[in-house]
Amino acid sequence: METIRPKRTRRVVLVPYPYQGHMTPMLQLGSILHSKGFSIIIAHTKFNSPNPSNYPEFTFLPLSDNMEGFDTSLWNMLNVISTINTQCEASFHDYMVQLIDEEEVLGEVACIIYDSIMHFVDVVATHLKIPTMVLRTNTAAYMHSHITFFQLLEDKAIPLSSESRLQDIVPKLHPLRFKDLPLPATSETPQNILDFLHSYMDIRSSSAIIWNTIDILDHSKLHQLKQHWKVPFFPIGPFHKMSPPKSTSLMKEDTSCLSWLDKQAPDSVIYVSLGSLAIIDQKELDEMAWGLAKSEQPFLWVVRPSLLNGSDQANEFLPKDFVKVTKGRGCIVSWAPQKKVLEHTSVGGFLSHCGWNSTLESICEGVPMICRPCFSDQMVTARYLSHVWRVGIELEGCIEEAVRKVMVGEEGKEMRQRAVNMKRELEDSVKGGGSSHESLEGLVEFIDLIE
Ligand code: UDP
Repeated sequence: METIRPKRTRRVVLVPYPYQGHMTPMLQLGSILHSKGFSIIIAHTKFNSPNPSNYPEFTFLPLSDNMEGFDTSLWNMLNVISTINTQCEASFHDYMVQLIDEEEVLGEVACIIYDSIMHFVDVVATHLKIPTMVLRTNTAAYMHSHITFFQLLEDKAIPLSSESRLQDIVPKLHPLRFKDLPLPATSETPQNILDFLHSYMDIRSSSAIIWNTIDILDHSKLHQLKQHWKVPFFPIGPFHKMSPPKSTSLMKEDTSCLSWLDKQAPDSVIYVSLGSLAIIDQKELDEMAWGLAKSEQPFLWVVRPSLLNGSDQANEFLPKDFVKVTKGRGCIVSWAPQKKVLEHTSVGGFLSHCGWNSTLESICEGVPMICRPCFSDQMVTARYLSHVWRVGIELEGCIEEAVRKVMVGEEGKEMRQRAVNMKRELEDSVKGGGSSHESLEGLVEFIDLIE
């Protein structure tokens, strides 16, 4: 008699791009699919590798990346990407051959889900005839701005003739201004950057796109992008609310700030973090420090070692006397357990670079934001936070004023109320009948049927 193997022994291989903002949602997606019965295999670079002990239920396959001693800073990102893509292909291919060989015993490899920066995956998957899907770790609104950027280039509407036009709204992209586009609109974009963007947009032979976004936030742009990519979309965010609360940090979290938060009044603390990659100069570090000092609000500030451009110990460059002046009112850490921080009742505002994970973590807790975007999708997200969802303000100039506006002003109160309403809507989206919940059911079925 033929044995029918339960479908759920099927294995899914996930290939994250090895930076925090991309690693986190891929690991969360792994947990979500694992909770639906799939076996999860993470094929990852040795550089910035995830911690397997946080995920004993997953299998981890380290890829040979030859990145030891490589400059992995923000400035060398295009070289990092190209090196990963050339170096990892061979070991990924070998692993995949091995996984196929053991299918009879350990279960069929249903598909590979990869971050579209890791385009070597498509070469291997096409060769071995394994279906793939792409994970998008940012919003449809941001991806749509890429398409518009290329359209503007084609129409010769950019580069702009003058810097003053950066404040103008981009036609058909309201409320985005030219300055919010993914790349500078006043100068020629170098060819290697354009090539990267084209490659990032390309979903190659993938049969679907999984999004860490939510229909209520991104509905119209998701709809428009469906006409561009013409494959099924599965917007199943926010991932961190669909998966168990596990640490995804690549850096060691300093949890001492949680007991400091316990001692603060409800909604009184402004949390400040610019994520894992953004850098600022000494002038801005000083402005931030004195802005927080003068605001007279309690603050929790993540001064990541690499935050200050050109230093690997940013906290040593804080202004003299700053720590003394703010003693008892401020807590500084080099890396925080951010999700727990944002869930804490003492936190009433978030001064953020508007990375997409940070944004989701903030709006899911009803915490209004002060937006200080740095690069990539952050400008688009900041604009949506301030002008579409209206749960944030853009930081224009004085930090002290912005902190007061959000933490104690009338505008802040209204924003907080909208943020609380949005939190409820996001909670509904992951419950039975909610858009992300239903989309996840659709994704599971899609993987079960994928050939
Ligand atoms: N994060 C953290 N501790 C910190 C700062 C950030 O755990 O002190 C986490 C944060 O919760 C988020 C991720 O790092 O999940 C940053 O991702 P995001 O997309 O916001 O920004 P990126 O680092 O990619 O610029």
